[in-house]
Amino acid sequence: MGYNDKVYTKMQGYEFEGIRQFFHSAIPLKTLVIACPDPRASGAVDAVAREFNQISWPGEIIRDANGTKVGSTMNVGAVITTGGRAQDALRSITALHHLIGLENVVVVHHTWCGLTAFSADALIFGHQRENGGDISHVHDPATLCISNFDDSLRFDVNLVRNAPGTPRHLNVFGYVYDTDEDKLIKVIEDRGTKLA
Ligand SMILES: [Zn+2]
Repeated sequence: MGYNDKVYTKMQGYEFEGIRQFFHSAIPLKTLVIACPDPRASGAVDAVAREFNQISWPGEIIRDANGTKVGSTMNVGAVITTGGRAQDALRSITALHHLIGLENVVVVHHTWCGLTAFSADALIFGHQRENGGDISHVHDPATLCISNFDDSLRFDVNLVRNAPGTPRHLNVFGYVYDTDEDKLIKVIEDRGTKLA
């Protein structure tokens, strides 16, 4: 079987609801963490799992009788984006919810993050000088750097909350991860609206 045949839509008898049921039972995903790749903040995903009393990525891999990997025990998945900024994760929220279902989105920004080391203007100017090209209209400047965690978390929680692809019932949280103390600090809790 070539790798291009290992695609669900090519399976014999494929129908989406069946595949969705399979994913729902194979991976009990509840929470998606958006966190920075900075290795000093690598404990953030597990810390969120502890905070929510859930099982962190990748959980324990479950295999069928043939030894094929068919699922996991994990409740908490992660999207790693620079600074843990939510802009890069909006597509993932929509797609993961469509297939598996989500209850919580947790945005984590961390102390001593690289994104606190420059301003958006400096980045845009530096890019133009060093690489050529004006990117001032490519990204929202508010997503390019962090100068205050209350502000950056409020921006990102609102971004997730108001994105057309975010289901209304999802709870959206904003946390700071203190890398000196390996500790999570809750800053924002924005509960979703219950489905009618
Ligand atoms: Zn960072």
